[in-house]
Amino acid sequence: MPTYSHMLAPLDLGHVALRNRVVMGSMHTGLEETKDWTRVAEFYAARARGGAALMVTGGMAPNREGGVFPGAAGLFTPQDIENHRSVTDRVHAEGGLIAMQVLHAGRYAYGPECVAPSPIKSPISPFQPTELDEAGIEKQVADIVTACARAREAGYDGAEIMGSEGYFLNQFLVTHTNKRTDHWGGSYENRMRLPVEVVRRARAAVGPEFILIYRLSMIDLVPDGSTFDEVVQLAQAVEAAGATIINTGIGWHEARIPTIATSVPRAGFAWVTKKLMGRVGIPLITSNRINTPEVAEKVLAEGCADMVSMARPFLADADFVTKAEAGAADTIAPCIACNQACLDHTFSGRISTCLVNPRACHETELRIAPAPESRRIAVVGAGPAGLSAAMTAAERGHRVTLFERESRVGGQLNMAREIPGKEEFHGLVAWYETMLDRLDVTLRLGAAATAEDLAGFDEVIVATGVVPRDPGIPGEDGPNVLSYIDVLRGKAPVGRRVAIVGAGGIGFDVAEFLVHEGESPTENLSAWRREWGVGDPAATRGGLASGGPQPAPPARQVTLLQRKAERPGKRLGKTTGWIHRVALRMKNVEMVSGVNYDRIDAEGLHVSDGEAGDNPRLIAADTIVLCAGQLSQRSLADDLAARGVPAHVIGGADVAAELDAKRAIDQGTRLAADL
Ligand code: NAP
Ligand code: SF4
Repeated sequence: MPTYSHMLAPLDLGHVALRNRVVMGSMHTGLEETKDWTRVAEFYAARARGGAALMVTGGMAPNREGGVFPGAAGLFTPQDIENHRSVTDRVHAEGGLIAMQVLHAGRYAYGPECVAPSPIKSPISPFQPTELDEAGIEKQVADIVTACARAREAGYDGAEIMGSEGYFLNQFLVTHTNKRTDHWGGSYENRMRLPVEVVRRARAAVGPEFILIYRLSMIDLVPDGSTFDEVVQLAQAVEAAGATIINTGIGWHEARIPTIATSVPRAGFAWVTKKLMGRVGIPLITSNRINTPEVAEKVLAEGCADMVSMARPFLADADFVTKAEAGAADTIAPCIACNQACLDHTFSGRISTCLVNPRACHETELRIAPAPESRRIAVVGAGPAGLSAAMTAAERGHRVTLFERESRVGGQLNMAREIPGKEEFHGLVAWYETMLDRLDVTLRLGAAATAEDLAGFDEVIVATGVVPRDPGIPGEDGPNVLSYIDVLRGKAPVGRRVAIVGAGGIGFDVAEFLVHEGESPTENLSAWRREWGVGDPAATRGGLASGGPQPAPPARQVTLLQRKAERPGKRLGKTTGWIHRVALRMKNVEMVSGVNYDRIDAEGLHVSDGEAGDNPRLIAADTIVLCAGQLSQRSLADDLAARGVPAHVIGGADVAAELDAKRAIDQGTRLAADL
């Protein structure tokens, strides 16, 4: 049994000892803005109970102009301090420690009052910031320091000063955003004056017995970013100014290189923190795409850092550390780094949760309590909806039988995991298999359940999923036409020139699958860095490789088509859609919108434009792959209804349109929580 001796080793910070090396990193969940403090407290208390040594809250605004968006939460009034105290009290009662992140967004603040070192608009915001004068700078420093002091008053064990990701303090550091000619700009000594001053004054305000974390951008991934010498200089100055710990920030928000998405290799930036090890005397935290105890242990054992920060993994499973301690790491619900229910929610103004764990941030409302009586429950279909329903029902003490027509569980997840860059889905399916086994769910694989099989159960849940939609294109029955299922299951050879009908999530996935050959870059850090142009910050400013991105040549010539006139990929995840679009563009995939599919023949796919069928032309292709969406597979549900057998229909069998695993898992879990 792995002991995770590095990850579980305590760390003495002088005035306080951390019970292990795991930090729950800062996440903006939107909970504080609900003003439901019981809910906020329960969220953090669950993670303290789950063993995180130190948690960092979502970013709290130091003032109005610095808030990420208008109305962003902060410690502004005595009542705010009381509210936060209710959270810190709950965390302490669970034996945890918690630091409050102070986040000044600078030019990233989404509002017209935003301020910055220079009046330069960021590419990801419509607002031009106001350039601060001397008094304005003094106000920002004082407000950040006051926020740290109020955090202490509210019972926090520390504060994290957010100095990375391209936020306010980071904006002073680089000439890209700091064009000042006074003593806050020009030389590096001048540009780093502000962050260092903030740490120095914060330390003076909070006293010695308070954890001060400085989150430092170690690789900016933007043009004119910091050199590594500057990173070291800043780290040493921040240490001298009174920081207790330095945390790693990777890439500005406006960087066009993915830093936390699922296609980023696991621990893909730990090497950056490692470069700073030994250059300062205080502990360093590394971060980004660390999502299992094995990865955390390896990173620490290799000397990349003193501690690891994991944020989203604590949404997926609050009990990450206690399960690892108990030798039950295989029962940890894995964060697959999809962003679908966390960051995508945050950026669309919704409360965060987790695709894998719908209870995240809903702890007070979605409870999985023991069932009043154990009943016999049949679940048909072991895709995400059926798996989550079966697991939750069994967790509650029901006796569950899960029928699956295929020889393995997973449903559509088994297709997702074939896509280069989506390898995390392997772990998700493996976790479901472990949980079904641990929870004694009776698994009937290779069994297409009939109405007769379901007689005698107290409850029947139909989660039979979807079937591919037939787009009805003349010639689609030809030998050169395949469905995405044939392609992803490797059932049929695919030619070198491919036209893909449908540019939804699956069309994009299939394109990704077809342009890659050999090892996935996600499994090979050097290849991934070459592909995206991640260099060494010691060699080039900001760590942008001098030759730029150098993707491997595409394995096929792919054209991705849709009928809608909108930009292909527009409906993909808010925080990840751009990555899919850039990745395909790097592989020369041609994306075509607003077409009619006129016919298919041996030459390829014939299309035209608009209602009038203008510009008829041939997309020459050896293979045409149909990815035209799905329809519900309802034959069993209809049969049961015809016989008057009551059944719960969930997932794709319920509604196929825009189905994704997030909705399926949420629906399955909520249904089973109520049975
Ligand atoms: P989808 O996203 O709904 O896309 C279906 C595609 O088929 C669209 O491009 C649509 O575009 C086209 N289409 C619809 N009816 C058609 C018809 N009669 N003839 C020809 N084309 C037609 O569905 P999906 O790609 O099958 O994906 C299913 C779900 O899985 C998605 O909703 C998504 O949430 C999830 N998924 C997500 C990801 C991700 O990256 N987040 C990846 C894979 C799957 P036009 O109507 O404009 O032609
Ligand atoms: Fe991880 Fe996806 Fe859950 Fe976010 S929604 S915590 S990325 S699994």
